[in-house]
Amino acid sequence: MTALIEVKNLTIKFRTDEGLVTAVDDVSFSLNKGEVMGLVGESGSGKSVTAKALMHLNARNAVYSPESRITLHTEAGPVEVLKLKSARDLKVVRGGAISMIFQEPMASFAPAITIGNQMIEQLMLHSDMSKKRAREISVEMLDRVGISDPARRVDQYAFELSGGMRQRAMIAMALSTRPKLLIADEPTTALDVTIQAQVIDLMKDLVSEFHMGIVFITHDLGVIAQTADKVSVMYLGRLIEEGPVREVIRNPKHPYTQGLLAALPKLDDLEAPLTPVAGDIPSPLERPSGCVFHTRCPKMLGDVCKTRLPEHVPVDPTHRVACHLHHAEVPA
Ligand code: SF4
Repeated sequence: MTALIEVKNLTIKFRTDEGLVTAVDDVSFSLNKGEVMGLVGESGSGKSVTAKALMHLNARNAVYSPESRITLHTEAGPVEVLKLKSARDLKVVRGGAISMIFQEPMASFAPAITIGNQMIEQLMLHSDMSKKRAREISVEMLDRVGISDPARRVDQYAFELSGGMRQRAMIAMALSTRPKLLIADEPTTALDVTIQAQVIDLMKDLVSEFHMGIVFITHDLGVIAQTADKVSVMYLGRLIEEGPVREVIRNPKHPYTQGLLAALPKLDDLEAPLTPVAGDIPSPLERPSGCVFHTRCPKMLGDVCKTRLPEHVPVDPTHRVACHLHHAEVPA
């Protein structure tokens, strides 16, 4: 399979009044065309900061380490995303080859402009098509995502649509420019369960139809099980486990991933108690030494966990984990 985007040694700190705060620490992954990757973790794990970096969208106080690299492979050749500076160059990754959808669709739509006019404006910004053609495509896309009566809806405002319909309209707008990569940041969290399932099904259909890649960000491993081909689990800015979604869910190796799974309700035993991961994610200002999870880990080995950062080790050719429990020899 062809790599669509490659992230290597991504480290992002933010300049704050308290000093430099690490949000993402040495994260590497790649995504192929037609693949869905789930990026999972609690809030504060660095997943949204990582995703925004793919569009070079982080705030101005973000500092990238010199080793950080994000390479987007386009038909015109590879693009080094973090080297893009001007608004003109950034158009490639902002609404061009990459689109993003959010948990709250109202954040994507300007309240005083019709949905159609926003879609038309975006299409005309990223191509040289006429306004008439852009409107036709907007109506087609609204139809494609299951919005009834799209020729009428296209002239409505976002506040006139129900929550589920707004989410569909946002997906239509994000996909109208035919991006190669869609970043979906908690896109179903605010929806009720039935609509959530419909939006997930829709996204799965669109991946195969458009043959694009999706980075699906969520705190919910249950949603990932339904949508993703592979999963990367983040904790306090570090990628701590990654692999094919079925393998990681059936055979989690990192105590944090095991904790996230134990916190999910079990359909075959609804009486079983849910056991959330104990404790809270530490403040990034008080980043633990050694393994960043050691302050909450029920399996901590002792000083080695407090002082040595665990390397990523393969537990099989496609499944990797960063935990001293899985090192052939635990460092002294
Ligand atoms: Fe727990 Fe140690 Fe593994 Fe970290 S390295 S997850 S503290 S056992």
